[in-house]
Amino acid sequence: TLKSKAAVVTGSTSGIGLAIARALAKEGASVVLNGFGSADDIENARAAIEREYGVKAIYSPADMSKPDEIAAMIRLAEETFGSVDILVNNAGIQFVSPIEDFPVEKWDQIIAINLSSAFHAIRAVVPGMKARGWGRIINTASAHSLVASPFKAAYVAAKHGIAGLTKTTALEVATHGITVNCISPGYVWTPLVEKQIPDTMKARGLSKEQVINDVLLEAQPTKQFVTVDQVAALALFLCSDAASQMTGANLSMDGGWTAK
Ligand code: NAD
Repeated sequence: TLKSKAAVVTGSTSGIGLAIARALAKEGASVVLNGFGSADDIENARAAIEREYGVKAIYSPADMSKPDEIAAMIRLAEETFGSVDILVNNAGIQFVSPIEDFPVEKWDQIIAINLSSAFHAIRAVVPGMKARGWGRIINTASAHSLVASPFKAAYVAAKHGIAGLTKTTALEVATHGITVNCISPGYVWTPLVEKQIPDTMKARGLSKEQVINDVLLEAQPTKQFVTVDQVAALALFLCSDAASQMTGANLSMDGGWTAK
């Protein structure tokens, strides 16, 4: 049970992050939701967690591209719950373009949100975790932390960076009861994947069906999407005592993609 624990899950108003936040709450953790979206949708998700699981859930609108807002989010969590025991760095965006046309501001934004935000959040939570002698840091990486695809320069660079940050942090905190791991899903059916289909159609000159079957599921030998609940179940396992000797790992859940 995670009853005495508090978790911050970045990018948890949608997709994988929301599934992880709900899974942690189901085991009793208090949670901080974070991310963008309509105020009504976010409040509904927050209230549903409190109602269904009997835990406290709060929302932080912190923009993961802004270091001072990230620090404020961690402060809010520590003030509200007294600790951040579990940090899930999950917020992420995608942009698909040939590298020579890749907008410079998109590169900067993806590096900030998908990579640097994890650094800013980790450095804010580590002192408290060390003081308490327990912590779980989970980074949502990607199959793109291990292999590349064309037209995703910023995303692939950021995810490879997350894998390196995970290993480095794991080594630094290893004797403090803190584990640091990343989860590397293949294609998970979420708004992030749905939204990149039109750009991939354009970049590769394909129809929607061709993108789904010949580009996305082509990568996955199982020919199926991963589900958000499957990713959440792995995150939950990483928070358990059974996983206390797993650290610095990059855990694939990709239908066999990176075995090829
Ligand atoms: P999603 O679009 O459903 O969710 C992304 C979340 O991040 C949302 O809550 C969004 O509001 C939030 N977000 C975006 N920009 C933000 C910002 N500046 N500040 C704060 N929050 C911000 O996407 P998802 O598929 O659930 O993606 C979650 C993570 O999983 C990402 O890191 C993504 O790279 C990774 N991932 C996804 C897949 C996939 O196939 N869907 C595969 C591998 C890895």
